Amino acid sequence: MAAYLVAGSPRGEAELKISRITTWSVDLPLVRPYSLSGGRLKFERLDGTIVKLDTDDGVVGWGEGTPWGSTYLPAFARGIRVGVQELAPAVLGLDPRQTDVVYRAMNLALPGHPYIKSPLDMACWDIAAKAAGLPLCDMLGGRTQGSVRLHSSIPSGTPSELMAEIDINRSEGYRFHSAKLGADVEADIERMRFLDAEMEPGEEITFDINRAWLPSEAVAVLNTNRDINRVIEQPCETLDQHLQLRRLVGQPLAIDESLQGLGDMLRIVETNACEVIGLKVGRVGGLTVAKQIRDVAVQAGIRMNIEDTGSTSLGATAAVQLAQATPEPFRRATWLCFDHLTHNPVEGGVTNDAGFATAPAEPGIGAYPDEAALGEPFAVHAT
Ligand code: MG
Repeated sequence: MAAYLVAGSPRGEAELKISRITTWSVDLPLVRPYSLSGGRLKFERLDGTIVKLDTDDGVVGWGEGTPWGSTYLPAFARGIRVGVQELAPAVLGLDPRQTDVVYRAMNLALPGHPYIKSPLDMACWDIAAKAAGLPLCDMLGGRTQGSVRLHSSIPSGTPSELMAEIDINRSEGYRFHSAKLGADVEADIERMRFLDAEMEPGEEITFDINRAWLPSEAVAVLNTNRDINRVIEQPCETLDQHLQLRRLVGQPLAIDESLQGLGDMLRIVETNACEVIGLKVGRVGGLTVAKQIRDVAVQAGIRMNIEDTGSTSLGATAAVQLAQATPEPFRRATWLCFDHLTHNPVEGGVTNDAGFATAPAEPGIGAYPDEAALGEPFAVHAT
């Protein structure tokens, strides 16, 4: 396991400066090809970026930015690596424990592009927690009781294909499934009814449409299946469409892709748009922003799936640290994307323990990329 410093340095007294930024590209093939929304998105591998921050004090921080393919969200996988190079001069020399100061410096250097900032922000939080000698969850509000429930991610397909995937995930301990629908109205009516009836006592399922329905299609499916009272996730493209839909259907709604920052969260609360949000660390721009959104959601009584957009166990563990610092019942579930990968070049971190994950107790995120497995860096910037 990689080394981290927990004692012996004059933390809180001396400055701590980011002295080097190393960026790697990681190719992450999926165990099985994945389809969203009736096959409109299909891919076989993820393009990940791992970032390491060195400090002049020897404390090291790790961050990750891995989109769930480049077609799911406004994210350009290769662009993350180039964007980090754009941000590097603004971040070098800053104290990584001052996460808001670093974030404002990144916003000045590169407006927008939140997903590019997430790996650098994540690495700063890793260092801040290591420097404090605390697990990251204790920097994000404090460890809460229990473990974080996992949800599966079931790719779109025929009813039998969906059930075959659910059975694989059941064998791995999952009791909460997120099934991807979004083909045509008749097929989705059938698939919802079929999967709902197949759920065993104690199992839970969410139907995730990933923006595929027009409002009229959503109304047709959901009102035909009005007796199925399951959470329906991101049925349409925009928040305004969800507000329109909300007046016409009875099922609880979740907003995922339409939540891209704190401003979206404030509007969600103002308009009473949903009961659940998908809080994806990479999409909103990192742990700094995700924590702000988490705090607003708790205040508003909205439950959260707290996870990353896709990741090795580094990004997943960082997300679980935030979830672990979020009390029940607001902490609904998290997703371990790395369960879908053929290899995971990271040591330590969270594991799937019969459908639950627990944030590591050591200082920092608690997950350590294997530098030898990462190979030659994409780029190195140093002071
Ligand atoms: Mg979703």
